[in-house]
Amino acid sequence: MSMLEKLRGHLPEPCLEGKTIWTDGEWRSARHGSTFTNVSPIDGSRLFDVARGMGEDVDAAVASARAAAPAWHAIGGAARARVLRAFAAEIRGASASLGLAETIDAGRPIALTGASGPQRAADLVEFYAGLADKLSGRVYDMPAGQSASMVREPYGVIAAITPWNYPLANALTKLAPILACGNTVVMKPAEQTPLVTMILPELLRKAGLPDGVVNVVTGLGQEAGAALVSHRDVAKISFTGSTQTGRRIAALAGEHLKGVVLELGGKSALIVFDDADIDRAADAAVFTSFMNQGQTCTSCNRIIVQRNVLDEFLTRCRAKLARIRFGDPLDPTTQVGPVVSKQQMERIERLTDGIVPVPLDLDCFRPTDGGYFVKPLIAVDFDPESAFARTEIFGPAMSIRTFDHDAEAFRLANDTEYGLAGSCWTSSLARAEMAKSSIQAGVIWINCVHVLTPAVPVSGHKSSGIGIEYGVDAIEQYMRVKSVVTLAGGWTSPFA
Ligand code: ADP
Repeated sequence: MSMLEKLRGHLPEPCLEGKTIWTDGEWRSARHGSTFTNVSPIDGSRLFDVARGMGEDVDAAVASARAAAPAWHAIGGAARARVLRAFAAEIRGASASLGLAETIDAGRPIALTGASGPQRAADLVEFYAGLADKLSGRVYDMPAGQSASMVREPYGVIAAITPWNYPLANALTKLAPILACGNTVVMKPAEQTPLVTMILPELLRKAGLPDGVVNVVTGLGQEAGAALVSHRDVAKISFTGSTQTGRRIAALAGEHLKGVVLELGGKSALIVFDDADIDRAADAAVFTSFMNQGQTCTSCNRIIVQRNVLDEFLTRCRAKLARIRFGDPLDPTTQVGPVVSKQQMERIERLTDGIVPVPLDLDCFRPTDGGYFVKPLIAVDFDPESAFARTEIFGPAMSIRTFDHDAEAFRLANDTEYGLAGSCWTSSLARAEMAKSSIQAGVIWINCVHVLTPAVPVSGHKSSGIGIEYGVDAIEQYMRVKSVVTLAGGWTSPFA
């Protein structure tokens, strides 16, 4: 059965015919009839042609979101919370379809996309449902006869532009807080992985969301994406993607003086001290470097290990890597699938070209025919100034450097333009405290990695972003502040 056949019954029928733009509660083709081809990384097969939305499609989607905004805000937080809770239940009910769509489109194994992925996504939506009816402003202490208060209001229309890795999680990380406080949305999924976003409108409608509150424009970044960023009725941009594109978006948004929330790239470090549980540290290093073929922005694949434990650590990493099941992501026993696209595969190959790999036992590496697989790589001996060492590779590559003294470990960890995440392995409380204060990053994991809940905020430092994702703090970015001052006794002009 072809990949497209497998998807039948899981995606809305109009989408399979190229009507992938959702505005005003209807699926539509692009106004100019343009399309682009969507390909599965599992076998390189063409899935179907997706609408290539441009300026006019963006105009229609923004108009739909703008028209729906006042009523969505006016129903109040408790009613919005009910819709979001019902949406979370719909996500859980649709986990088979969401999982299949993500696996066929992005190559992430079905064991992860089909169960835990939608579960976590639903948890996140419920977290923001819980905040929707608890939003409040402030009242200030004023002299008698005067009152002053501050209210928070939604902006109106927000653009949510998402990347190709983790398409469900990234879409909902934006959608949930944006909707909870009463904004409406135009979503622009990545051109490589638009399928998951095609399932969401039906789930939202079943949950009771009025038409027009969420709109989807499929298309290319420089076309639909850029048109959204510069649209005069889009008040704020929430973007997750590469630092390079984030810079471009921030510049364009700056011209139009609108705010941005940017979650960008990373090149995070995992420090292993000699007093650490070396076996667990090796587990963490292998997991963070190779899960999702390394296509995770918070991956801590820049390993910094104390010289006297390098041999033991490396031996354990090699043994653990040899047991990971790389292969067909539709096989429920597979742990790591292909990378997202041919272009990404070639980019990784370019960045790792000439790097001398540590010898690995790769019997467990079983690529599918035509699939975009990249062999995992561990490197110890490389130029620290090379593109391999400095660039976010977004592929299955672990680099290892050694240190002798604690200060050197933290210096190496911070020797990057990025500051998204970090992980530190030690049994010393003093070293753990040093890691907390020394590593310049938005989230630091001590003796663990990738442990997050919807309540824990992540905010990229340095070139890893502007703004916050997750947690109570994220929702405030999608509301603006309005202060109101009242004088009971009549105002007298200073000119009088
Ligand atoms: P990558 O480089 O890894 O493919 P990007 O960061 O370029 O990823 O893309 C992330 C998202 O940003 C995608 O939805 C993409 O279409 C969109 N995008 C790319 N370029 C622009 C742009 N100039 N303006 C707005 N959105 C863009």
